[in-house]
Amino acid sequence: MQQRNYWLTTAEFPVTEARPLPERVDVAVIGAGYTGLSAARTLAMRGAKVAVLESETIGWGASSRNGGMVLTGMKLGVNKLISMYGRELARRMYAASLATIDCVEQIVREENIDCDFARCGHLEVACKQKHFDDYARQAEVIAREFNHTLRVVRRNELSVEIGSRIYYGGIVDEVSAGLNPARYVAGLSRAAIKAGAEIFERTRVESVQREPSHVETGWKVSTSRGVLWAREVFVATSGYTGAATPALRKKIIPIGSFIITTEVLREEHACELSPRNRMIYDSKNYLYYYRLTPDRRMLFGGRAAFFPETDRTVRGSAEILRRGMIEVYPQLRDVKVEYVWGGTLDFAFDIMPHAGLMDGMYYALGYAGHGVAMATYQGQKMAALIAGDKPDNPFVGIAFPGAPLGLYGGSPWFLPLAGAWYKVLDWVS
Ligand SMILES: Cc1cc2nc3c(=O)[nH]c(=O)nc-3n(C[C@H](O)[C@H](O)[C@H](O)COP(=O)(O)OP(=O)(O)OC[C@H]3O[C@@H](n4cnc5c(N)ncnc54)[C@H](O)[C@@H]3O)c2cc1C
Repeated sequence: MQQRNYWLTTAEFPVTEARPLPERVDVAVIGAGYTGLSAARTLAMRGAKVAVLESETIGWGASSRNGGMVLTGMKLGVNKLISMYGRELARRMYAASLATIDCVEQIVREENIDCDFARCGHLEVACKQKHFDDYARQAEVIAREFNHTLRVVRRNELSVEIGSRIYYGGIVDEVSAGLNPARYVAGLSRAAIKAGAEIFERTRVESVQREPSHVETGWKVSTSRGVLWAREVFVATSGYTGAATPALRKKIIPIGSFIITTEVLREEHACELSPRNRMIYDSKNYLYYYRLTPDRRMLFGGRAAFFPETDRTVRGSAEILRRGMIEVYPQLRDVKVEYVWGGTLDFAFDIMPHAGLMDGMYYALGYAGHGVAMATYQGQKMAALIAGDKPDNPFVGIAFPGAPLGLYGGSPWFLPLAGAWYKVLDWVS
């Protein structure tokens, strides 16, 4: 088994020259994942001079490492959403979550991105009877409040959706989609470059300070490759948010997520596991998510370790995930696992996406494992805001809580406790 991201073996990234940084730009975007590149594309299309500053390489973060599930809804359940924000705002948020899928589809079409985008739908499967009982209630609330239809699948009908017998039933949303995440982020970077944005790889932003220039206010952005002046800064660093933006770092918990992929499966075998080729995840807090890749491997992911990716957490996760995969699909017992890798998710303390202005800098993050579609959408919406429009974006301006009692400076010391707590919750709920 290789400690390597399978998706990267399928994608080609544009080669950017190591040229000097420009002296001045309209917008400096920090981070070349979906959020940053989607914003850079929109801003450049509107005529702004944009520099995307990426400490590693294009798509190096979660954007090339994820499961490629383009999902409707949010991590937070719909009842919680309504109780936290009220009906009106919750409706706008849910509608936005549906619009995120259209947003990805539209960019893929407009830019001709070869990333296997398909509206294959998602399936959530219930690990307990009471989780299944809740599906009917959820579907009813979503239909009534958000005018969106989900289909509940009873246990005795589940075999048309999944070749596993361990679940108590499921719920399907046909609107969700799947794609190849690395090809998508590579395509998005080409689209941003084509629109006129410049991407600077291996350029780590070290600090950002207010600095007036002549008549304008703006920012002095200091990087590992020199300094540039930017009228606006857009922070798109997600789970990799670091010391350059300390206020934002305190609001985000970086959590590891890990994936294995098997060897290529025979067509009948793959079809038996996932007859409708859905994006699948289960109902636990410590959940598994899985799907077939376009070349028919089983891709199986989960929060096998809570800490972000290191050689040690990736190695440990490989075995945990293989065991999990065989619990779900005993048919895969003798199938070879070929790849394992990990990446970092960005959780806000309220598990919601957040966007807006902090300390004068624009930002969007907090996708909590639902970022393929939402990050693309937030990039586009925030670009419109920076360009002077007033786009409808229900995630701007909502309360953005930090840690209780301020007990967090960006180093997540409590992750083992949180991990243990979620395991207890899965046991009792
Ligand atoms: C294993 C895994 C599976 C996932 N599966 C799914 C899924 O199936 N569906 C889904 O919707 N979501 C999924 N997600 C989440 C999704 O991938 C992310 O929400 C999304 O990619 C976030 O995009 P982004 O552009 O905001 O951040 P990222 O892609 O993480 O990019 C942030 C970039 O910022 C750069 N950076 C950080 N600090 C600096 C600095 N100081 N200077 C310069 N650059 C900097 C980093 O190098 C990084 O490249 C998954 C995530 C992981 C890790």
